Amino acid sequence: MEIRSYRGKLALKEYEAVVRDFHGHLAPGVLMGGFMVDWALEVMEPCQILDALVETRKCLPDAVQILTKCTIGNGWLRILDQGKLSLILYDKETMHGARVCLDPQRLCQFPLIRAWAMKERSKKENPLDPLIEEMMHAGRRIFGCQEVVVDKIPGALPAYSNPKICPICHEPFRYGTHGICVSCADPFFHAKDL
Ligand SMILES: [Zn+2]
Repeated sequence: MEIRSYRGKLALKEYEAVVRDFHGHLAPGVLMGGFMVDWALEVMEPCQILDALVETRKCLPDAVQILTKCTIGNGWLRILDQGKLSLILYDKETMHGARVCLDPQRLCQFPLIRAWAMKERSKKENPLDPLIEEMMHAGRRIFGCQEVVVDKIPGALPAYSNPKICPICHEPFRYGTHGICVSCADPFFHAKDL
């Protein structure tokens, strides 16, 4: 079994190794995300200018970052967190794309994946190794794949304004209120210069 990526196909074992390296451990969600991105890339194959929307903040974004050129940092990957195990790869010029989502009806044949996805059992009651094995066996058979047109990006962040210097911390910033940067308006850390 192979997984498509922007660098060419990866053997499943190679993908597993990259997941461990990038994500920290072989998480079921990132493994599953590999099959999802593989399917979406297969549909979108001729397209070189992909953007990605991922509908959960957990695990799946890392599968997209490993296998496509879309990252959080370059802005081509957006997380629209609805806690849904689904993702869209789309052509940013035509807005046409492929959406791969978990299909609960298809999960009937895969009780461990179902228990994991629906949080029917604790991690202790659904140990990782048999779950991963069932995922490898299932491959893309637990998903549906749709052709989609992206009409709008909900919750897209407003454009940055030009940098201003914050009168409190004296650092340049691009988001803030009343001319003060966010971390001075509502501090979330305290610091000492080194
Ligand atoms: Zn400040």
